[in-house]
Amino acid sequence: MDAQSFREFGKAAIDYLADYLENVRDKQVLPNVEPGYMRKLLPEEAPEEPEDWREVLKDMDRAIMPGLTHWHSPHFHAFYPTANSYPGIVGEMMSAGLGTIGFTWMSSPASTELEVITLDWLGKMIGLPPQFLSCSPGYGGGVLQGSASEATLLCLLVARERYVQRLHEKNPSLTEQELRATKAKLVAYASDQSNSSVEKAGILGSVPMRLIPADEKFQMSGSNLRAAIEADLKEGLVPCIVISTLGTTPTCANDPLREIAAVCSEFGIWHHVDAAYSGAALICPEYRYICEGIELADSFNFNPHKWMLVNFDCSALWVKDSRELVAAMSVDRAYLVHTQQDAGMPDYRNWQIPLGRRFRALKLWFVLRIYGVKKLQEYIRAQCKLATDFEMLLRGDDRFEIFTPAHMGLVTFRLKGPNENTNKLMANLQKSKKIYVVGAEVGGKAMIRFAICSRFTTFSDVEFAWNEMVNQTDKVFLTLPE
Ligand code: PLP
Repeated sequence: MDAQSFREFGKAAIDYLADYLENVRDKQVLPNVEPGYMRKLLPEEAPEEPEDWREVLKDMDRAIMPGLTHWHSPHFHAFYPTANSYPGIVGEMMSAGLGTIGFTWMSSPASTELEVITLDWLGKMIGLPPQFLSCSPGYGGGVLQGSASEATLLCLLVARERYVQRLHEKNPSLTEQELRATKAKLVAYASDQSNSSVEKAGILGSVPMRLIPADEKFQMSGSNLRAAIEADLKEGLVPCIVISTLGTTPTCANDPLREIAAVCSEFGIWHHVDAAYSGAALICPEYRYICEGIELADSFNFNPHKWMLVNFDCSALWVKDSRELVAAMSVDRAYLVHTQQDAGMPDYRNWQIPLGRRFRALKLWFVLRIYGVKKLQEYIRAQCKLATDFEMLLRGDDRFEIFTPAHMGLVTFRLKGPNENTNKLMANLQKSKKIYVVGAEVGGKAMIRFAICSRFTTFSDVEFAWNEMVNQTDKVFLTLPE
């Protein structure tokens, strides 16, 4: 493809996306296809001869569109949002077009420097204590990861290495074998309400993850955490890292950071905070009460790619002491060495698991500049208000009970009576496909999560969802015996 065709193809693709996003409200949010549908539409082999881009674009309509779940439809209320905005999309395109790989400062200085600056901007926007910022004295700083899952895994691995390194420093005579044996005794802790990625980090890092039963507010209490740690210590095990969650996936509960931090500092344990979804709300000062005690944490992560209009993937991680990342993650080779290594800018390859890295900071920069803090705050507040609106509608129908009131953009609820009622409602909703919600079971109770996800969602979309909820609930009670 030459540059002229690229211009035409690129412009046509932008038009295609603008049309899609402008009209996404009118599409059924869940597709009608069956597993394996695409095999019937595409050839078995890759084309031998080059094809015209116009033919490929036509196949978007024929093969791709019918199988899409429309994540940006205002009728999408499942999981948590995934961000999408025009500045974010253009940022993605610029990053792909420039195609730099900024694993060291020298490999693309602008990539590294923009990331350092935008993560300081973002850290200040969410009220992070200065110890986490590159612009403050000390070793704090931010880095973009691909996902919150990666950020948790990274911190777990760094906490593991920190423990072993400190042990070795204290006992230089310990052999490799003895150090390995201690490593095998490390344990990690998180709430049983934490995201699946947290448990997975434990599996991948070979550090068993204790899932602490959450209390009646779905939070991990300091006392339950302490009890688990003390039990493990008695068994000769070694607590290594605690992962707190701000905005748990099932109910958007917040672990009490200060209480947990006190336990972590008493036992010398790394404290990582996973605020994948809720972190974006911290740009509004009225939500900062949830991160009371954050100054005591070792690391903090949230996903601008969830709720801050930066297209996937863009997960922001800050640490207080970046030397610990570098100590655990750096593996040197002559071809990676450069003359500016000690000039005060990070070589981000040592702040992450992979070597290669995309220029993600561009899309973050575009979004921060083109919206500005004020518009982003307005956006978060409007989404929270819509969740409250839905809660009010639920409260007006006494067949429903609120499971957890609207918090951020999420409200959870159930039908009164046995779980069967709620499960039947979920099944009806998934069959009719007019809105997309997901259910969960917490503390033995089936419930439905209703999240405000799309940036296009308005009050009339919330009413649309409510009408659908009422229709499908009527059917539940028509078919279930009294
Ligand atoms: N942590 C929490 C609390 C989440 O809600 C999610 C996803 O919804 C994740 C982590 C995983 O995020 P990612 O897909 O960026 O790994």
